[in-house]
Amino acid sequence: MVLHMSSLFLRTLREDPADAEVPSHRLLVRAGYIRRVSPGVYTWLPLGLRVLRNVERIVREEMDAIGAQELLFPALLPREPFDASGRWAEYGDNIFRLQDRKGADHLLGPTHEEMFTLTVKDLYSSYKDLPLSIYQIQTKYRDEARPRAGLLRGREFVMKDSYSFDIDEAGLDKSYQAHRDAYVRIFDRLGFHYVIVEAMAGAMGGSKSEEFLATAEVGEDTYVHCTNCGYAANVEAVRVPAPEPVGWDGVPAAHAEDTPDTPTIETLVNHLNAHHPRPDRPWSAGDTLKNVVVMLVHPDGTREPLAIGVPGDREVDEKRLGAQVEPATVEAFDEKDFARHPGLVKGYIGPGALGLEGTTGIRFLLDPRIAPGTRWVTGANEPGKHVLDLVAGRDFEGDGAIEAAEVRFGDPCPNCDHVLEGARGIEMGHVFQLGKKYAEALDLRVLDQNGKLTTVVMGSYGVGVSRAVACVVEGNYDDSGIIWPRELTPADVHIVAAGKDEPLFRAADDIARDLEAHGLTCIVDDRKGVSPGVKFKDSELIGVPTIIVVGRGLADGKVEIKDRRSGERREVALDSVVESVLAEVRGS
Ligand code: ATP
Ligand code: MG
Repeated sequence: MVLHMSSLFLRTLREDPADAEVPSHRLLVRAGYIRRVSPGVYTWLPLGLRVLRNVERIVREEMDAIGAQELLFPALLPREPFDASGRWAEYGDNIFRLQDRKGADHLLGPTHEEMFTLTVKDLYSSYKDLPLSIYQIQTKYRDEARPRAGLLRGREFVMKDSYSFDIDEAGLDKSYQAHRDAYVRIFDRLGFHYVIVEAMAGAMGGSKSEEFLATAEVGEDTYVHCTNCGYAANVEAVRVPAPEPVGWDGVPAAHAEDTPDTPTIETLVNHLNAHHPRPDRPWSAGDTLKNVVVMLVHPDGTREPLAIGVPGDREVDEKRLGAQVEPATVEAFDEKDFARHPGLVKGYIGPGALGLEGTTGIRFLLDPRIAPGTRWVTGANEPGKHVLDLVAGRDFEGDGAIEAAEVRFGDPCPNCDHVLEGARGIEMGHVFQLGKKYAEALDLRVLDQNGKLTTVVMGSYGVGVSRAVACVVEGNYDDSGIIWPRELTPADVHIVAAGKDEPLFRAADDIARDLEAHGLTCIVDDRKGVSPGVKFKDSELIGVPTIIVVGRGLADGKVEIKDRRSGERREVALDSVVESVLAEVRGS
């Protein structure tokens, strides 16, 4: 195929779009790949659509290669299956809901567990039908709270989702591994750096779960990894090992002390060091127990205060907490809430007010570090007072444990005690073992070998197809524009007719036709009255990996081939250009 710039539906922009926060968004808009329609909703222009189709092709090839079969569900879905799974309520504001003319509730599918499960239930009834893996590449809708960064977090986006159906756990393990292997091949082919990390199963329930994160500063996910044992996890999924319980023989009884004007950890530590010095070492923030109260909002709208106890040198991490309390969401506990709970003394909240035994009855969950026998300084539930020598397990207990304290780079590895390093990433794919959650909720059972009905075991696997387009750009650009990997590029070659004379244009077109005959796609910049400088700039912005410049050298039978990534240029004879380009395209 030959795409002529003189007629191609494309306008490149000199200026960055005002709302662009990240390089992929800026470059994809400027180079004419996408156009914004509304927050998180984009039009795919011809070049963009070509790249999107390339991602889809790679995903499709690798899914087909593991024997998964493609189908396509509608985006417009009735409410009933989502009532059956509980997600009509759980999704809250995160889905688009609508009614038909008869008033029947519908939604635009944010993901399709229910449909896959019900369709298999509809058609299959025996263990002989399994294992089965089916997938679709389809447009999803989520009313994201913060659509951002162009294609990275859209409200309409393209996802590949697949599901595996097995008769038992061993079957699920195999299907899971096959998908995981396929994902490795997909992301290797897409051409960006990624890591595979342990993940939370999240709203989906289930057990084993891993994410493929594209490493990128602009990512919304943070992960940690251990260079010693290979452990890697999304911080949401990090489990802090609880220290061994220790005895409290000889620890003095808890005692409340006046600590005037110490509503913050820093003021408290300063006061302790001035008025209650420790014999062994100075007090530090990690000796204090900080009790943070938040407001949980459940899917049915009910609001429940929740107290979380963490060592005073750590913050509560919003994302980790969010992942733990899903499908509830977390809101700040504001002044009005404090007014409604006079038992909570802001700045001096202590275990005495919390938990089932406490004066307020507010649910109280503890960080695993607050293990039996550990000794704390914490609020005494009176202004200007703290309790010292308060021992977990002896003087107070929580209502359970929670993993909500921040994870820091440098923390010990939960696996081997080495030091954790970390970085940010973009979630590109997610594989997880759903187990029986949906099969049970929607009653997907088949007859087993003994003629007994048994619940099917499911796995669920997603790839962000449109997000991948942005991720590829995040991993492949320079100051001048995008640099597409071979498999993704909207065209194989970008030919610039650099000059005014007719023979230049003819030669550019001839090269394009010759390459087309070999199955290559070419963009030809045949715009009249556009300067070579502008054409060069556009070719670099658009990012096709091989650029041919037909210019002054043509008089001597020469053209220039430029490598977009290295910037390297070489002159070749006109009659050998096709051969050179073919070698380059096929070789790299
Ligand atoms: P996130 O944590 O980024 O919101 P998720 O865990 O909700 O994603 P899944 O339900 O696991 O997403 O969806 C599978 C894949 O779809 C994700 O791995 C991601 O690549 C992609 N995806 C999810 N939400 C969006 C979105 N709003 N825009 C673009 N791609 C998305
Ligand atoms: Mg996910």
